Order: sequence, then C-alpha cells, then structure tokens
Amino acid sequence: MTTIAENLNHVRDRITTVCTQEHRKPQEVILLAVSKTFAADAVQQAYVAGQTAFGENYIQEGVQKIQALRHLPLQWHCIGPIQSNKTKQVAENFDWVHSVDRLKIAQRLSEQRPAHLQPLNICIQVNVDGGANKAGVVPQEALALAQAVVKLPHLRLRGLMSIPEPAADDDAALKVHRQAKELFDVLNAQGLALDTLSMGMTADMEAAIRAGSTMVRVGTAIFGGRVKPIVTSA
Ligand SMILES: *Cc1c(COP(=O)(O)O)cnc(C)c1O
Repeated sequence: MTTIAENLNHVRDRITTVCTQEHRKPQEVILLAVSKTFAADAVQQAYVAGQTAFGENYIQEGVQKIQALRHLPLQWHCIGPIQSNKTKQVAENFDWVHSVDRLKIAQRLSEQRPAHLQPLNICIQVNVDGGANKAGVVPQEALALAQAVVKLPHLRLRGLMSIPEPAADDDAALKVHRQAKELFDVLNAQGLALDTLSMGMTADMEAAIRAGSTMVRVGTAIFGGRVKPIVTSA
C-alpha cells in the first residue's frame, strides 16, 4: 500500500470516528483531497486508493492536472481565489467552485460555462471569523449574494465554504464552525435548499464535522507537507 493510500485510510477513520460520536452517518461527510502543489502522479495514487474528489487552489496548476488526468473519472473542485481573467479556465475545466465571494465572478462563471457541461456547482465563501484581509463575504452579505447567484443559469448553488483562521484549540474551532453552520441554516430557512457546508481541513476537521460540515477539504493529512513555494499568480 502506498503512503497516500494509508493516509487516506487514516483520514477516513478520523471521519468515521467523529461521525460515530456525533451520531452522523460517515457518508454525510464528503472527503475532498486537496492536491495543490502535488503532481498528477499523487492524484493518481489517491484515485487508485478510492478517492475521486480533488481540490485545487491555483487555477493554472489545477487545469494542467485536470487535463493530464482526463482519462480518470475524477471530480475537480476549485477552492482558491479567482481573478476575473481566470474565470473562463475555471468554468471550462472544474466541476465545483468553493470560492465565490463576488457576484461578478459568479456571473462570469455562468456566462463562460460551456453548454455541453453540467451546471457548475457553487459554494459561496464566507468570512465567518471576520479576518480583515480575508477572502469571503461577511455573513450579513451572504444571503443577498446567494439569492443573486441562485438565479444565474449554468450554475447550481450548493452551499457555503469557510476557511477560519487557525484556532487556539478545539473549542475555539468548534465555535467558529458553528457560526458557519448557523448561517447555513439561516440561508436554508430562506428556501435556498443548500446541501453543502464546506469546512474543515487537516487540523480542524473533527471540530468542523461536529459543527455540521458536509465536506472536509484535506491536504496535508493525505499528501504530506507542502514543500513547493506557493504560486501567487493563481
Ligand atoms: C490548502 C487548503 C486546504 C487543505 O489544507 P490542509 O491543512 O493541508 O489540510 C483546504 N482548503 C483550502 C481552501 C486550502 O487552501
């Protein structure tokens, strides 16, 4: 068994353990393997170990992997910041986008989604813990953005995504994830029928699942530490 396969088993065990404690079904929590900075070969190893959903932060890098692995039935999620000049590549290559925080980006994705593809699945990124320079809409603006996005053709609004700052401990992590869950419930109470709450990474996936996450985005615990410098020209 490869290390990636072993790591995946371990992450799945972590999900199962916390779901059991919380009386949730493990199938309610989708595992997204975040493969940014890792080569197509690592993605292929994870696929052989049963993983089909992958997350990428950097558009150019992600598109290269998507094209290199076209022969595999993989689902690709864009989880990084998107500049206007990159929306076309995203709309043409990815299955999901978690990082929509402006209507303009959603409109471009909608216009540029090729007609022969399924609607692009969208999560709105929310800045729940109020980090000053962070991506994401503030919670008060999430409902209005969601109500505008849901009307766009070629997109399917699925839910919310959040990336809180690293928390001091599990209790603090739980608290901020619960704020995202509350917002998710508020939007659903307005009739938006969202099914995806994308939150939780290697360090805080247990807290996120306790708070109600339906999709955890895990990189380090599957692929190991990232050594390549972060490409900023996303
Ligand atoms: C890198 C990244 C992850 C994965 O983080 P790990 O701590 O390596 O699990 C998840 N979500 C986003 C948006 C990321 O950029």
